[in-house]
Amino acid sequence: MSLYFEGVDCRRDVFCQHPHRLEAGLYARLKITKTEPKYLCKFTMMTNPARKYLLTGLLAVGLGAYFIPEGQRRIPVAGASFKDWRPVSFWYYPWGRSGVHKGIDIFAREGTPVLAATGGLVVYSGKITMGGNIVLVLGAKWRSYYYAHLKDIAVPAGQWLNTGEILGTVGSTGNAQGKPPHLHFAINSFFPLLGQYDPRLPQAWKKVFYIDPNAFLRNADSP
Ligand SMILES: [Zn+2]
Repeated sequence: MSLYFEGVDCRRDVFCQHPHRLEAGLYARLKITKTEPKYLCKFTMMTNPARKYLLTGLLAVGLGAYFIPEGQRRIPVAGASFKDWRPVSFWYYPWGRSGVHKGIDIFAREGTPVLAATGGLVVYSGKITMGGNIVLVLGAKWRSYYYAHLKDIAVPAGQWLNTGEILGTVGSTGNAQGKPPHLHFAINSFFPLLGQYDPRLPQAWKKVFYIDPNAFLRNADSP
């Protein structure tokens, strides 16, 4: 899309944002043609270059994630077994500020290694308000694995993790402060799993984007 502003003398800039004519976030590439006695300025609408690269990057990661191999599965806390969490805590209601508990809490001593439940790419590692120190891993089938309340984080974003590799340690950071140390573990699906829709459940529409970690850890083939 091109816009022409006749008589606007902007010869000084070759690339500028036109504050009056363009919406926020839209940038203009400027080409000037000298047409006596006026200067004709041609603005070509384009998106912010940084945003363009970000979108391309996200698309590449998104498409690449399709090819991430599923790999093996394991309980993501060293030495933990099925008795170290309450299966009913998944989608438990009512639950604090989130309303519903969207994962499981695996209790362990502070500092116990947290291990990748399955392989994937670390897409975020850092601190957030509710989760505290967290690691987010993108795995096969466009699923993400969320490890929260970590004491320490052991992996940077961009690192590949195989099943069982250490990504941090059990802690009680974020909104788990003052509570017994545990790993909050949740699995998201970017694709809605419509078979999981049950209108009787609280936040029913959200549940189609979550996978029950109990089922995931119980059986290598399900869900
Ligand atoms: Zn939790």
